[in-house]
Amino acid sequence: GTMSPYQHGEVYVTDDGAETDLDLGHYERITSMVATRDHNWTTGKIYLSVIQKERRGEYLGRTVQVIPHITNEIKNSIRAAAQDVDILLIEIGGTVGDIESLPFLEAIRQFRQDVGRENTLYIHLTLVPYIASAGELKTKPTQHSVRDLRSIGIQPDVLLCRTDRQLDRDMKRKIALFCDVDEGAVITARDVSSIYEVPLNLAGEGLDRILLERLHLPETEAKMDAWEDLVERIQQPMDEVTLHFIGKYTAYEDSYKSINEALHHGGLPHRLKVKLQYVEAEALEEPDGLKLIEDAVGILVGPGFGDRGSRGMMAAAEYARTRKIPYFGICYGFQWAVVEYARSMCGLPDADSTEISEETPHKIIYKLRDLLGVDDMGGTMRLGSYACRLTPDSLAFRLYGEEIIHERHRHRYEFNCLYERTLTENGLRISGRSLDGKFVEIVELPGHPWYLAVQFHPEFKSKPLHPHPLFAGFVEAAYKRKLALAGVSTNVTSIAERRR
Ligand code: GLN
Repeated sequence: GTMSPYQHGEVYVTDDGAETDLDLGHYERITSMVATRDHNWTTGKIYLSVIQKERRGEYLGRTVQVIPHITNEIKNSIRAAAQDVDILLIEIGGTVGDIESLPFLEAIRQFRQDVGRENTLYIHLTLVPYIASAGELKTKPTQHSVRDLRSIGIQPDVLLCRTDRQLDRDMKRKIALFCDVDEGAVITARDVSSIYEVPLNLAGEGLDRILLERLHLPETEAKMDAWEDLVERIQQPMDEVTLHFIGKYTAYEDSYKSINEALHHGGLPHRLKVKLQYVEAEALEEPDGLKLIEDAVGILVGPGFGDRGSRGMMAAAEYARTRKIPYFGICYGFQWAVVEYARSMCGLPDADSTEISEETPHKIIYKLRDLLGVDDMGGTMRLGSYACRLTPDSLAFRLYGEEIIHERHRHRYEFNCLYERTLTENGLRISGRSLDGKFVEIVELPGHPWYLAVQFHPEFKSKPLHPHPLFAGFVEAAYKRKLALAGVSTNVTSIAERRR
């Protein structure tokens, strides 16, 4: 709970409740791995663990050093993550030459000795920039970084060359010669318009075969049909739809990385390209602020913390509710939707969240754990995956198609069940709650075309090959509104049919 979205981008949450770097999200989206806290290691986490061991006397009072203590700790974390897998991919962030990454590089250098040359493969990601004025690609940055890497004892087996155009045979030969890498192992990693084109491109370059060969694994047939279908859907949409995304950190798109991705995934079953119109929640609080969303066909209010923009989020929820614009609230967007409903529909104009107002007489959103007497910034969030039971016949149930779902959480405050009756008697529907009944996880509005708000973060489980049902449903609803406004008649089945 102490990571700034501006510095780190989105805080990515794993099933087991670790708050990690957003890179882990890409791995979960693109592969079938289920990430855990053991899949992300920061320098701080490594040092903390070593310091704790030292304090417990595990080093018997001997001097603690980067080599071997820090490097051993890194190697142990690699081994811990390698249980029950065929291949372990280890990404070392940063740039060769950074002081921060040195212990990590030394650890993987040693690792090859530990587990055997034939069981390891070093892939080095380098840059091959195109200099427009000279009209040529430059191999120097690649040569330099490979030289730096070799000076610390690592000879890369494969070079992934980031570039904006295909590297020709001569270029690859030149890089191979200077860097002492096989020509076939110089791979063009060309810029692409969608990250989901990357697996196909790398396969086209033969990277998959090289990996199997170098790791002495049997060569099997690559099945890329699903990826080909996906890329075709991305490149050739049937139509597009623009969604309004209300948030607190919209100036920096990476702070909502997983939601952005999930919204794009949500368009794929319908062959729709999703465009996003970001709106700072704070701007909606200005006198003419709501003009910013007047032509919205779908409004999403995203996660957030603190006072700034919270009233704007509430205004967006009200706007969507009263004008019957599809509304999707996620986490903070759930909380403000509920407070807005209490204020406007239940005769509780002072209703609030205790995150903003401790004094409110109607603590609609509060901290259940306050009552338990625990509080410490960074330590008391409800984090990770929890089961949720859906109400039969609800919109949520129809979308998920199952009764028990599991979604990831990251919040400190929650729905106050003392107000459950007031809210439901006035028309709000609770369509999902934790199995013990203590936590309200989903609310929706019968009679509204599509109004759904969730306390959890569904975005973390959406994948391009398996778009999340809530996002797919939201995009579909928004698109239907777009067609309706344009006077095109449509019905649910026409879109659902295209989906098949
Ligand atoms: N600030 C809210 C809470 O802590 C919502 C958090 C979020 O949107 N992730 O409960």
